[in-house]
Amino acid sequence: MSWAEIYHDSFSNILKNIKKVRGAIVGFNTNIDAIIDFHSEQILNLIKKIGVDPVRLYTNILKWKGKIHSPVDFITGLCGCFEKGKASEWLIESEETYQYLLQNLPPPKKIQLGGQAGIIANLYAELGVRQIFVHTTTLPKLMRELFSKKKNIQIPLYNKEGELVFLHPRKVKDFDESLYFHIISEVHKGDTLKLGEKLYWKCPRDNRFIATFDPPNAELEILEAFQRDIEVLAEKSDLLILSGFHMLNVKKLGKEGVNQKIIKTLELITRAKKANPNLLVHLELASTKNRLLLDRLYYYSSKDTYWNSLGCNERELVELLEAIKQKRLANEIKADMFTNYELIIKGALKVCEKLKLERLHLHLFGCYLLFVSKDYPIPEVLLFKTLCFASLIAAHKAITGKAKGVFKFKEIIDTIDIDATLPKAFKKVNNLLKKIETYVSYKDFDLNEYTILAVPTIIVQDPIQTVGLGDTISAAALIAELTYRQLLF
Ligand code: ADP
Repeated sequence: MSWAEIYHDSFSNILKNIKKVRGAIVGFNTNIDAIIDFHSEQILNLIKKIGVDPVRLYTNILKWKGKIHSPVDFITGLCGCFEKGKASEWLIESEETYQYLLQNLPPPKKIQLGGQAGIIANLYAELGVRQIFVHTTTLPKLMRELFSKKKNIQIPLYNKEGELVFLHPRKVKDFDESLYFHIISEVHKGDTLKLGEKLYWKCPRDNRFIATFDPPNAELEILEAFQRDIEVLAEKSDLLILSGFHMLNVKKLGKEGVNQKIIKTLELITRAKKANPNLLVHLELASTKNRLLLDRLYYYSSKDTYWNSLGCNERELVELLEAIKQKRLANEIKADMFTNYELIIKGALKVCEKLKLERLHLHLFGCYLLFVSKDYPIPEVLLFKTLCFASLIAAHKAITGKAKGVFKFKEIIDTIDIDATLPKAFKKVNNLLKKIETYVSYKDFDLNEYTILAVPTIIVQDPIQTVGLGDTISAAALIAELTYRQLLF
C-alpha cells in the first residue's frame, strides 16, 4: 500500500466512530496565549528601547539563561531563537518585567486558548468526543470565550448544594478570574537582523520564543472536583491526559512543595485506575527548563506503573533522558543537533523501558515515531492510520490556524504527492528501521520488548501557525487509537 492510500484510508472510520469513546479527562494547564508576529525591525526597536549593546546580547545568548528576570533576558531569549531558529519557553520570574513586556511589545496578532489541557480539550470538543472533563485553575471572561462552543466540553464543579455538576466553561461563574498571557513571539525564516556592520543574523527556520508569567498554573492547585471525585470522572472516561508539570515554580514551592504536588497527582492516577482499570493514562511533555521537576517526576513515577503512554518532541525526550540518568546519551543527541535518529530511537527505547510504558509517541518534523510494547492490543495497520490521522489534523491546523471547522482531509492529501516527496527525517528513520529489523537485537536496542512504527508526515509550507501543534498531534493520535479500541473490543 502506498502512503497516499494509507492517508486516504485513515480518517473516515475514526471520525465516524469517535463518539464511541466515552470520555476524556484533560488536565492540568489551561491558559491564554498572546501571539506576537516579530520581524527584525520590531526586534531592533526593542533592543534600542531596552538599551542592550549587541556584544553583550551575543554573550548573553551563549550563556542561555533559560529564565527571565529582566527585559534584557527577554530580548536574549528572543534573539537566541531568532539566530538559531529554535523554539524555547522561558518562565518570567518578575511581575515587573511581565508588566513591562505587556506594555512595550508589539500588539498580539492573535489571542487563543493555550496550555496542553486547553488545546487538547478544544480539539476533542471539535472532533466530537462525547464528554471532555477539562481542568483549569483560572477562568477569566476572555478564557471562557476562547473555549469551544461545543456542549461536550465540561468543567467538573460543585453546586451550592455540594453536588458534583458538569458545566460548560462559558457557563461557569464565581471562578478565579485572574488573567495572565503567555507571550508567544514568532520569528520568521529568512528574516535578517542587522546589529552592526559585521554582525547580522539570518533566521534559519520559522520558530517562536515563549515567555510565561502565570502564578496560578505555577502552583498547580488541582480543582476540588478532580481531587474528591476523580473516581467518578474516571468511570465516565477512557482516557486521562495530563500535562503542566513544567510550569511548577520551584523557587516558590520549594523542593518539598514540588514533591508533594507530584505525589498528589500520582495518587490521583492510582485512584482513577482503580475505579477504571481500562483507563489509558498519558503524559504529554512540554519543554521543562528546571531539571529538578523532571527528575522528581521520574523518581516518583518509577515507584509504580502510572503512565501507559507518553508524547514528546526530540528536545523534550533529551530533557527526560537527563532526568533518568542517561546524561551521556542525552549529550550525544544534543551534540548532533537532534538529527542522529539512531541515538534518538535508542533514547526513546530507554525511556519506554525505564517508565514501563506501553506506548511512546515521538513527533519529529517530517516523521512520527510510535513505540509500542510487543503485546500492544491494536494491530500495526491501524496504528499507522492513527498517526496519519494525527498528521492530517496537524496539517489542517497549520493551514487554517485552527483545529476546528470542516476538516477537509481529502483536499489536503490531494494537494501533495506524499510518496514522491517523503520528508528527509522519515527517509532516514525508515532506512534505519529496515536495518534494525534485520537484526534481532541491533546494538543496544532491545527490540524484544517494543515495536517501532514510523510514518511520513505532511509538511505545510508557510504554516499560519505551529504553536501547540505537538500537543495536537499527540492528542489526535491517541483519540484515534481509543476509537479503534472501542471498535475492536
Ligand atoms: P508545541 O510544543 O507547540 O506543541 P512541538 O515543538 O512540540 O510543538 O511540536 C511541533 C510539531 O509540529 C513538530 O514535531 C512537527 O511534527 C509539527 N510541525 C511543525 N511545523 C510543521 C509544518 N510546517 N507542517 C506540519 N507539521 C509541522
